[in-house]
Amino acid sequence: MNNEKVEVLIIGAGPSGCVAAAYLFNQGLKIKVVEKSKFPRFVIGESLLPRCMHHFEEVGLLPCLEKQKFEIKAGARFMKNGQICNFDFSKKHTSGWDWTWQVPRADFDKTLTDTLIERGVEIAFEQEVVDVAFTDQEAITTIKDKEGQEFQVSAKYIIDSSGFGRVLPRLLDLEKPSTIPEHSSIFTHVKEENRPKGKEGTLITFDVIDTDTWLWVIPFSNGYTSIGYVGKTEYLESFEGDNSQKLRTMMKLSGYYNDRFERLEYEFEPKMIKNFSKSVKQLYGKRFVLTGNSAEFLDPVFSSGVTFATESALLAAKLITRELRDEKVDWEIEYSQYIKEGVGVFATYVKEWYTGNLQKIFFHKQENTIIKAQICAVLAGYVWDKTNPFVKNHSRLVKTVAHITDMETEGKV
Ligand code: FAD
Repeated sequence: MNNEKVEVLIIGAGPSGCVAAAYLFNQGLKIKVVEKSKFPRFVIGESLLPRCMHHFEEVGLLPCLEKQKFEIKAGARFMKNGQICNFDFSKKHTSGWDWTWQVPRADFDKTLTDTLIERGVEIAFEQEVVDVAFTDQEAITTIKDKEGQEFQVSAKYIIDSSGFGRVLPRLLDLEKPSTIPEHSSIFTHVKEENRPKGKEGTLITFDVIDTDTWLWVIPFSNGYTSIGYVGKTEYLESFEGDNSQKLRTMMKLSGYYNDRFERLEYEFEPKMIKNFSKSVKQLYGKRFVLTGNSAEFLDPVFSSGVTFATESALLAAKLITRELRDEKVDWEIEYSQYIKEGVGVFATYVKEWYTGNLQKIFFHKQENTIIKAQICAVLAGYVWDKTNPFVKNHSRLVKTVAHITDMETEGKV
């Protein structure tokens, strides 16, 4: 077994792994990215949040993405039984980016890896991490190539950005049940030859069927559109037939979208991901750190996955760089607590979505522009801005405002 040595080994070349790699490479560190699949590869997670633009910008990955002319996402539309709630990122409480993109991830992720490779980053595709071992001095990772040959790489640090591969949580017994109610999803892409003209054709929309069930419609600039349902696992499973038949029947639940999509062929057999919410007992350890989905995944409803993946990757990469330069890092405070704060805010919004409280606020007839701007900042991913009361007091405030909404609806105030 040959034993290659690097300073940092990154598992996975999704957005999390790429942002970490870009930062560390820019700092002049010797790194290697190991990726199980061959790119381009399909992965779900197509609606980004403005917050992640800062991360791509900081590591110099924005220009290559801009060239791709992905569909601009300047906000999001939520609809339920004919009621509409539009969020416009330019009208948010926190300053920062007021747009982002809707992206086919195969192209998006390939753009990132191509750019890194051009710069000189080593990304080894079709190589799967199968084991890890730690000594006082190093982390030794066993990697299997596509011929089944195993070899080892030693590193001072491992960043696990393996997404739902969840390499270190599995190997180190770090898995922990999520506190988010169990939901599943079924989704595919369609090619739209006759999209509605104007904004209607390109707008990202969440069509809420009932408190637990919703449909996403995410149009891409390449003429394809992503459609997918989220609902309780047993509800999704209750539909008959294979995944195509299940999704076709479910599409009829959307009075608004059924006509637009019912005659279109599915580009691939719809995929189903069951019980997608994931958590871990700890986010770091001696010589390793977990970032992105490998650490935590809540729910797709507010599109927080990629943004959390890049936020955690950038921070992990900065802390590792400091530590390798012999600076003291308090991983508990500087990484774990920081990450958990942001995840905690999003977790409240996800939970309150499925209690119905947030849906009441979104679709309330008497709109309060200040509250809307504050919630909009959360939906744009600015979940660390304590000047926003909907961040600072997230768990109490959403409940209180939902209660006031109830009273207004009942005419009691
Ligand atoms: P990934 O993008 O999954 O990349 C991980 C990489 O690691 C993969 O390329 C994989 O091949 C590789 N890997 C895995 N195991 C190994 C191994 N053993 N060795 C080497 N490499 C390995 N997020 C959003 O932001 N917006 C959305 O609209 C959205 N919608 C979603 C809808 C659903 C139904 C679900 C389930 C998730 C959704 N997400 C969304 C979440 C999104 O998919 C993830 O948060 C995001 O892809 C995480 O990025 P990542 O870099 O951590 O992982």
